[in-house]
Amino acid sequence: LINSFLLQTSTMERTYIMIKPDGVQRNLVGEIIKRFEQKGYQLLAMKLVRPGKEHLQAHYADLAGKGFFNGLIEYMNSGPVVAMVWGGFNVVAEGRKMLGATKPSESAPGTIRGDFAVEVGRNICHGSDAVASAEKEIALWFKEGVCEWNPSRNAWVYEN
Ligand code: UDP
Ligand code: MG
Repeated sequence: LINSFLLQTSTMERTYIMIKPDGVQRNLVGEIIKRFEQKGYQLLAMKLVRPGKEHLQAHYADLAGKGFFNGLIEYMNSGPVVAMVWGGFNVVAEGRKMLGATKPSESAPGTIRGDFAVEVGRNICHGSDAVASAEKEIALWFKEGVCEWNPSRNAWVYEN
């Protein structure tokens, strides 16, 4: 029992998922939230925000120097984004699978980018790429913290 408890808590993760300005403009907010909800993941925080260029540059700091960086910041700053934190078993890697590949042309049908996007520079959503970057991004976007709660459905989503 103790072992299964440790196994479960060690793979319970949080990830930062963001609907980019094109996803908001194209009315895909509900569709994207729906997919994470239906999968069984837990919504831990959510807000519609326009945080400005400095904040977006901090979020994408690892990509500074790339040829597409300035265009990426312009795109991300062009309208509000929906910032969210989702929790669950392996949610970082599974969330990336649900988004699809960075380039929509390489995203499988059934993924969010595969179903709704055409170009890499308009790929409608963001998801953290590792547990460490997820925690960094959550700290950047939710300085106020997230909402802790106990979903009653967990017994129907998780075996243990
Ligand atoms: N991006 C772009 N051109 C590229 C690569 C990336 O415009 O050649 C944009 C795209 O919106 C992507 C974001 O920069 O989602 C961040 O790039 P990253 O490699 O981190 O991809 P992601 O983690 O979003 O799949
Ligand atoms: Mg990335």
